Amino acid sequence: MEMEMEVEEEQVPREPPKIHRLEESVVNRIAAGEVIQRPVSAVKELVENSLDARSSSINVVVKDGGLKLIQVSDDGHGIRYEDLPILCERHTTSKLSAFEDLQSIKSMGFRGEALASMTYVAHVTVTTITKGQLHGYRVSYKDGVMEHEPKACAAVKGTQIMIENLFYNMSARRKTLQNSADDYSKIADLLSRFAIHHISVSFSCRKHGAARADVSSVATLSRIDAIRSVYGVSVARSLMKVEALDKDPSSSVFQMDGFISNSDYVAKKITMVLFINDRLVDCTALKRALEIVYAATLPKASKPFIYMSIILPPEHVDVNVHPTKREVSLLNQEVIIEKIQSVVESRLRSSNETQTFQEQTVEPSSSCQMVSSKDSNRNPSTSAGSKLQKVPVHKMVRTDSLDPAGRLHIYLQAESRGHLERNPSLTAVRSSVRQRRNPKETADLTSIQELIAEIDRNCHPGMLDIVRHCTYIGMADDVFAVLQHDTHLYLANVVNLSKELMYQQVLRRFAHFNAIQLSSPAPVKELIVLALKEGDTNPESTENDELNEKIAEMNKELLEQRADLIEEYFSIHIDKDGNLSRLPVILDQYTPDMDRVPEFVLCLGNDVDWEEEKKCFQVISAALGNFYAMHPPMLPNPSGDGLQFYRKGKSFRNTGESLSCNTATDDVMTEDEIEHELVAEAETAWAQREWSIQHVLFPSLRLFFKLPNSMATNGTFVRVASLEKLYRIFERC
Ligand code: ADP
Ligand code: MG
Repeated sequence: MEMEMEVEEEQVPREPPKIHRLEESVVNRIAAGEVIQRPVSAVKELVENSLDARSSSINVVVKDGGLKLIQVSDDGHGIRYEDLPILCERHTTSKLSAFEDLQSIKSMGFRGEALASMTYVAHVTVTTITKGQLHGYRVSYKDGVMEHEPKACAAVKGTQIMIENLFYNMSARRKTLQNSADDYSKIADLLSRFAIHHISVSFSCRKHGAARADVSSVATLSRIDAIRSVYGVSVARSLMKVEALDKDPSSSVFQMDGFISNSDYVAKKITMVLFINDRLVDCTALKRALEIVYAATLPKASKPFIYMSIILPPEHVDVNVHPTKREVSLLNQEVIIEKIQSVVESRLRSSNETQTFQEQTVEPSSSCQMVSSKDSNRNPSTSAGSKLQKVPVHKMVRTDSLDPAGRLHIYLQAESRGHLERNPSLTAVRSSVRQRRNPKETADLTSIQELIAEIDRNCHPGMLDIVRHCTYIGMADDVFAVLQHDTHLYLANVVNLSKELMYQQVLRRFAHFNAIQLSSPAPVKELIVLALKEGDTNPESTENDELNEKIAEMNKELLEQRADLIEEYFSIHIDKDGNLSRLPVILDQYTPDMDRVPEFVLCLGNDVDWEEEKKCFQVISAALGNFYAMHPPMLPNPSGDGLQFYRKGKSFRNTGESLSCNTATDDVMTEDEIEHELVAEAETAWAQREWSIQHVLFPSLRLFFKLPNSMATNGTFVRVASLEKLYRIFERC
């Protein structure tokens, strides 16, 4: 290295170069090159000036991608005659006088540099008229100064600025731009963006000589109308409104509203139109964050279309960090991004859920044949001929008729054939989401507030950050998930976590649930009989049947009496015939395992003390939590030891003996020894559960969960390793 340098110095012996002052015109041209990087940057500055001049109509004409001509005409307040001589000097502006004003600047321009810059790299002609004048003036500029006295001329209201031969004196830049064909489309794209934000202004953009404008919008009151007219019907149709508001000065103060695409929208590239305090800007961090949300929530969907307008106190935005004011920096940027991210995420989830429900095709009941571990003596071969299709994991069940309905069906079939014959479509539990807002204000229920306050009080402060920022790695076994946070690995009990999360969410959504509608209601009494039978030590015997019937009847009557309450507050609907017909949506995109309905209904009937309000709500919420928790499916996991369960005609299945009794002596099972339909069904159930754990449970935990103190010590959430230590160990090996 040193030698090389010496050689070079020997070859080129040199005196230190002399420092001299650059000519002002050179300085200005360099600066101009920064502000006006391409034709589109000139258009942006000019349109912003027109907006600052309170125009209601702005029209742009472009020739040769802007290199020959850019002409922006507006109907704004115009420029005073006496200001024309200094209009295009550097640092002349009507918008800012003291530096402190920058803090609260509302106009888009403030540096007084744009017009000046243009005169250093192009020929600029301004025609303008102010209110009350009989005629306007036209004047041309070069290198910051007027080329001649303003000439009186006829003019319509406002200002027209013409930029000709852009970069005529910067041949390198001109050459690179000449080779690129897409400058006009960049300009049209820019105008489209302005048009959907400033909806009270009409915009147009056309090529010089063209009869039709490529962008044209009329002033409107409706944002979605503006988007429709600029981006087209199909884009507008697949958009959803999003909003967020934060008024808490200790975290962030902002207001966001926008439109985001749903899963119907198809595009190869993200379109992100972002305005912060009415300035069109880029915010790479936010864009990235939203792309991630889309990829995680709508795995198969295309890149999104996002229009977003964020309003912050002006003093929270530093607009002066970039020469073209394109990137801005915000106070509390991370907090704001996180909040927006979570709003978008839950919006997507709820929309996707509606879609999932709509798209569902309900299989005829024959294909829902199902044998649960409880009714092991039923011959599973009756399910032959059923066609369990392979569904891509992300589309799997959740509410799929193949699974939950099938199980419920079998339970009911065992006990109430008569009912089923009257109601053969019971298996086809078609779910649908119905927006159900309770008109009654429930925030004043102190019992609920107290229960929520208890959650907050019991929250483990140290674990909050871990839960918020952990990454899901996979399932270690049927119950524990492996998580990573920083360099630490954790094991988390998903059953406990989901149970508690559901409980917390029930309280938070109290009286404001969307509903899962069962197309065929399930008879409460029979569900309770089933649950009681499950609890019996000997399910085969009939000696308790009569007693069970009685208990079930009593519980059913009790629940019917309380139907109004559980309907109103929990969206659990029991109709007048004693059938369960609706359940609440606790986490968007998730429906519970219907195998657990009987147990849940029994718990409602048995365990709730209806007299004491707080206790009553707490127990119902906990029962829902237990019902909706992500328990391992009842069918054993066929990957691994559980496969033994699916062996045809093996006696252990009937005796219910432990699965591990089947040892290596049995060797490998041959293909036709395996109950394939059942295996497929079990695989679906397990894959679906894992999907839910990854895509519903953990994202929701990150957003909503308050980890109770107890879970930090009871083995629900344990740190198992630190990667640093592991690496150190590996290094030694
Ligand atoms: P800035 O916008 O930062 O003030 P510019 O160089 O873009 O600087 O413009 C200089 C001044 O020219 C503005 O402050 C404004 O007073 C005036 N101006 C420019 N364009 C227009 C327009 N279309 N209508 C009215 N006034 C304009
Ligand atoms: Mg300006």
